[in-house]
Amino acid sequence: MTSLRSINQEDLRNHNLSVIIDSILRAPTPLSRADLAKVTGLTKATMSLLGGMLLAQGVVRETEPDASQITYGRPSKPLAIAPGRWAGIGLQVNTDGYGCMALDLSGRPVNTVWVDDDMRQADPDDIFAKLDCLSRPIESGLAEDGYRMVGAGLALPGLVADGKLLLMARNLGWERLDLGRFRLVRRLDPVVGNEAKMAALAQIPGYATPRPAPKASNEGASKPLTPTDSFIYISTDIGIGGAVVRGGAVEPGDHGFAGELGHVSVDLNGPTCRCGRRGCLETYAGRRALVEAAGIAGGDDAVSPKAATELYRRWQEGDAEAADAIDRALDALVSVMASAINYSDVDTVILGGFWSKFGGVLAQSLQDRLASQVLARDRIKPRVMMSKEARQPALKGAAEMGLRRFIGDPLSYFDQQA
Ligand SMILES: [Zn+2]
Repeated sequence: MTSLRSINQEDLRNHNLSVIIDSILRAPTPLSRADLAKVTGLTKATMSLLGGMLLAQGVVRETEPDASQITYGRPSKPLAIAPGRWAGIGLQVNTDGYGCMALDLSGRPVNTVWVDDDMRQADPDDIFAKLDCLSRPIESGLAEDGYRMVGAGLALPGLVADGKLLLMARNLGWERLDLGRFRLVRRLDPVVGNEAKMAALAQIPGYATPRPAPKASNEGASKPLTPTDSFIYISTDIGIGGAVVRGGAVEPGDHGFAGELGHVSVDLNGPTCRCGRRGCLETYAGRRALVEAAGIAGGDDAVSPKAATELYRRWQEGDAEAADAIDRALDALVSVMASAINYSDVDTVILGGFWSKFGGVLAQSLQDRLASQVLARDRIKPRVMMSKEARQPALKGAAEMGLRRFIGDPLSYFDQQA
């Protein structure tokens, strides 16, 4: 009886610590212990005890209270996530390269290494061995700096089943890949997922790192997302993926395959896609399709990073063929965005990856074109934003998946003597 009781109390304490950390991450401004007690529903005594534990373990630090908030008496010091102690590792293999990132729980990227590579003939064993070599010095660097690595995530450009099987990544030519065969995967035991879903996670403020403080002068700017907002994420490179985030959570679908917006068809007589269908969004707005349509390169050369840079350069210089290709791709993008909004009743679209390089002006133009295509246009005003994480958002999302392991189960990472 005694041991059962103590186990339950331990679980309860772990749960409460997790709720407190989440509350701190998601708050727009740092909260005092009294504020946290209100937000979490914990008693002041419990909050004080658990706040002490989080301080002692280096999860939080005390900050100076905002002078305007002090009305009388001794000010209560707000708690913020402390940097320098807890880190997650993000790993990614994509169609434009591969890389690794260490992310501090405070939101600071500690170290990021990305290798731009032509992934056409990429051999999985070779790529995972290279990724292992990239990750090891980052991990040892973390340990030298006094970090505890709490977990890892791995983002892949394809369908991932049951967390350890890559069913297919057509643009890499990989199929039915048992990820457990790679030393890196066995060593770090990462949470494995589809890159678009991980990139979508990286857009959710407060998901695993602190929500950015509101800017003083935000008038005129697009309202920033909150931790419980809904949005459609479209991830773009050679392939196009997607995710629907509803109320701050990615909708996985029954089998984990939801959100594949790159394979929504916009023309039954369109080009044949690698998936076998005709007129998929990917065949107009994917990086390879764009480069080919702009007459820059064909065949295997169309997927080289150089060709994409050339496309961007020609578009900026007003080259007619490049402008036409981009325009057709925009039509396809707007059509799929409108279909996705009509289908899901989510009014915000975030565009990430290759297309986010084209910047805010293009987002505005997409938004303007979208307005007239949404069925409920009299009631909702769709908005289009570019991903804030311009470089490899899925890599950050993967690192956040690693950090979530700690946030969901903090007690098992704590030093017992502290
Ligand atoms: Zn397709």
